[in-house]
Amino acid sequence: MGTTMFGAVDNPEDYIQILEKNHLNYKIHIDAAYGGFVYPFSNKASAINFENQKISSITIDAHKMLQAPYGTGVFICREGLIENVLTKEAEYVEGMDLTLCGSRSGANAVAVWMILFTYGPFGWCEKIRILQIRTEWLCEQLEALNVNYFREPFMNIVTIEAQNINQELVKKFDLVPQKHDENNQWYKIVIMDHVEIDHFMTFITDLKATIQKNIETIKV
Ligand SMILES: *Cc1c(COP(=O)(O)O)cnc(C)c1O
Repeated sequence: MGTTMFGAVDNPEDYIQILEKNHLNYKIHIDAAYGGFVYPFSNKASAINFENQKISSITIDAHKMLQAPYGTGVFICREGLIENVLTKEAEYVEGMDLTLCGSRSGANAVAVWMILFTYGPFGWCEKIRILQIRTEWLCEQLEALNVNYFREPFMNIVTIEAQNINQELVKKFDLVPQKHDENNQWYKIVIMDHVEIDHFMTFITDLKATIQKNIETIKV
């Protein structure tokens, strides 16, 4: 649910159908590390959750979109499955090594709890809705410029083909490359609180100028 570079979301049914057809024994894990605090809120019809009996486990990171301190990844699985990920190495802590034993930071858990309760479910939905509107605005502008991009319709990541992006734009707007070498083909923009329409306006103006310059170079 939300790959790091493209924000792409897979439909678990695509996998389930094939696995079932071949009578295979399987577990399905949803990596919602990035998208878990976006997709279920923006797509109310999403069925990627434990209501789907075939989904075994889900991870969700509070240190991404929720902006909690690092190390606040959450792993949830169905009853009876946690035993499969238990490690014998931590036998020095009494009981099962599952939650806040040993030196794990309880403050992190409290931070996540505080963030969630400060927003509340409606507050968080509103925030995601605003980010969706901004993302749509950027996509419309890119379309008007005929610039190729990928965006999962319910996500807040816009991944733009590198073709029209020069190093000046990358530096000025802190664009994130897919690869940190000369073979890079994509740059992404993650739309968060601090990424506002005003920034997009400047970005689009600069991008337009770059494209214009490229066209003129070709003509010459
Ligand atoms: C960030 C991320 C991870 C890694 O999670 P960390 O808890 O930050 O190490 C895994 N999968 C996806 C899709 C991510 O975005």
